[in-house]
Amino acid sequence: MLLFTPGPTPVPEFVRVAMSEPTIHHRTPEFEEIFATTRMLLKEVIQMPEVLLLASSGSGAMEACVTSLCQKKLLSINSGKFGERFGKIAKAFGIPNVEIKNEWDTPASVESVLEVLKQNPEIDAFCIQACESAGGLRHSYEEIAKAVKNHNPKIMVIVDSITAMGVEKLDVSCVDALIGGSQKAFMLPPGLSIIGLSQCAIEKIEERNVGFYFNLKTELKNQVKNTTAWTAPTTIIIGLCAFLQKAKEIGWDKIYQQTKARSLACNEAMQSIGLKIYPTKPALSITCVYDEESDTLRKILKNKFNVNIAGGQDNLKGKIFRINHMGLIDISEISWVVNAIELSLQELGRCEFKGTANQVFLKHYFKLIK
Ligand SMILES: *Cc1c(COP(=O)(O)O)cnc(C)c1O
Repeated sequence: MLLFTPGPTPVPEFVRVAMSEPTIHHRTPEFEEIFATTRMLLKEVIQMPEVLLLASSGSGAMEACVTSLCQKKLLSINSGKFGERFGKIAKAFGIPNVEIKNEWDTPASVESVLEVLKQNPEIDAFCIQACESAGGLRHSYEEIAKAVKNHNPKIMVIVDSITAMGVEKLDVSCVDALIGGSQKAFMLPPGLSIIGLSQCAIEKIEERNVGFYFNLKTELKNQVKNTTAWTAPTTIIIGLCAFLQKAKEIGWDKIYQQTKARSLACNEAMQSIGLKIYPTKPALSITCVYDEESDTLRKILKNKFNVNIAGGQDNLKGKIFRINHMGLIDISEISWVVNAIELSLQELGRCEFKGTANQVFLKHYFKLIK
C-alpha cells in the first residue's frame, strides 16, 4: 500500500535500519554525540540560533510555545483544524485569546492581523501555521510576521511549520518559535517535536520559567549540553540523525526543488482531469482537491489501486481529498497515485481513462526539474 497521507509519511528503509540498532542509554557520551550532530544538522536546516527536541507529537510543541511565550493575550489564526488548536490551547490554560477565523480555503491577511493588534494592545504573542494542513493552505506567514514585528517587535511570533519544515526554505527573519514534527517531511514515526528559537524567544523562556514537563527553560539548560531534561526518545532521534545526514548528502535545495515540482505538477494533473484545487493559495506540502465524491474515490483508490490518501475533517468531511508531497518520494510512486486517481474517476463513471493525469504530471514535473 502506498502511504500518501500528509502525515504520517512512510519511514524509508535507511531510517528503519538506523532505528533497528539495540537501544542505547540516553545519558551516555555515545548518545550525546548523536544528539549534538542532530541539533547541528537541524540548525542548518531551520537557520535559527537554537533548537529544542521534545518527546511529544507536534501539538506538545504548540502547547509549550504558547505557555512559554504568551503571558497576556494571544492572537491566533484559525483557517482550519490546526489553527483552531492554538485557540484551544490558550483556552485550556486560561490565556485570553483573540482569533481571526476564515474559511478553510482562505489565508489570513496582513490587514486583518494589524486591525486586531491595534484594537488589542495587550496581545503579546501571535500564532499562525505556515501550512494549514486541514485544507492544504499556505499562509503568507513571512509577510504577516514582518507586519506584526513592525507593529510591535515585542510580540512573540510562533509559526507552526509542521507541514512546511523540510518542504521549502523558510524565512525565519521575523519568527521567534518555529515548530516542526517528526512524522511529516522528516519521514519518521510520530512522537518527536521540534522547536526552533530566536534570541528573543530564548531570553523570554529563561526569564519566565513555566510548566513542568514542557518547561522550555529546563530543556534549554539541558539541550545546550546535548542532553535532555527527561528520558530522550532515543530511537526517533537516531532516525532523525540518519534522515538529516542523508538529506544533507542529497542537498536540501534539491529536495526543495523536487518537492515543489511534484506538488505543482500534481496540481496541474488534477485540474487536467476536471478536478478542483480547494485552497485559494495551495501549500507545496499537500495537494488538496475539493470533490463531493472524495470518500468513495478514496475507497476505490485503496481497495483497487493500493493507494492511501487522506480525506477531510469536520465540515470538509467527505468533501476533500489530500495527497502528500512531503519527504523523499520516488517519482514512480506519485506518478502512480496521479494515474490511479484518473482510473478511479473512470470507475465512478465520471470520465474515460486516457492517461491524461499522468501525462500532464510528468510533462510539468520534468519541465520544472530539468
Ligand atoms: C500534523 C500537524 C500538527 C501536529 O499534530 P500532532 O497530531 O500533534 O502531531 C500540527 N500542525 C499541523 C499544521 C500539522 O499538519
